[in-house]
Amino acid sequence: MSYIGRFAPSPSGPLHFGSLIAALGSYFQAKSQRGQWLVRIEDLDPPREMPGASKLILETLEAYQLHWDGEVVYQSERHDLYQDQINTWLQSGQAYYCQCTRKQIKAAGGFYMATCRDLALTNHDQCSIRLRMNHPIYQFEDKRHHVLTIPTQLADEDFIIKRRDGLFAYNLAVVLDDIDQGITEVVRGADLIEPTGRQISLYKMLNQSPVSYLHLPLALDKNGQKLSKQNHAKAIDNRNPKPALLDAMSFLGFDINEEIRAAAIGEIIQWGVEKWHLSQLPESTEITPMFSNRSV
Ligand code: GLU
Repeated sequence: MSYIGRFAPSPSGPLHFGSLIAALGSYFQAKSQRGQWLVRIEDLDPPREMPGASKLILETLEAYQLHWDGEVVYQSERHDLYQDQINTWLQSGQAYYCQCTRKQIKAAGGFYMATCRDLALTNHDQCSIRLRMNHPIYQFEDKRHHVLTIPTQLADEDFIIKRRDGLFAYNLAVVLDDIDQGITEVVRGADLIEPTGRQISLYKMLNQSPVSYLHLPLALDKNGQKLSKQNHAKAIDNRNPKPALLDAMSFLGFDINEEIRAAAIGEIIQWGVEKWHLSQLPESTEITPMFSNRSV
């Protein structure tokens, strides 16, 4: 089977150092196997979007010479795919409406105890939609980190597939899209280790063979926080990509010599594709990088 990987940014802001790690890691892993590398814009949550971010993200990928295969896919154009699957599950009784608020669940201990599972609620506009969990996943195999464990209560939960505000849930959209796009391996940041359990459960419930997973170490800021748009992580530079590119590649375990430092962006990327191997990746899932040229 030929390799198909992807990079799936959410357009809540421009790419930062953490998202560059995910872009590069997924690109090197795909291209080192002569695979395809697809780009999917995960614009599922309009209130959290930054106007213009999708365009900016694609321009950044171009500036770093990360050329994607095929057309860019936008989740905002795929609501029918998600809704059709939800309808199928509602009809079969696999999915159900739930009126519990986040506050109520938190007050009851933090995990959803299937309170509405058998209530057959009809006040649909005030409800989220949940999926009966009949394939909980407690652990999975990661290409770098070997067996990763999911907390039991989290794995057992009937999780949300459509939110009370009408937005589709991330886990559902990601899995339906990955299946539809023929993705064979998911490479992304270690912040997404926990949802992986639910995503594998979805593959099982959809009778699809699961993909393989590789979680890349997460870059933390100097306060030990994940770099994110919410934490105001600095946007990476489009006009002068080299410093952030070299920092991100060192972070991913490349041993960069003076000759590579002096090379053009396209040559550096090509060198990365040729040299990439999984054992170069740090073993830790979280790292605070220290770089002189301050891409972070
Ligand atoms: N859209 C998600 C994010 O930007 C990534 C989804 C994924 O790679 O599965 O965090």
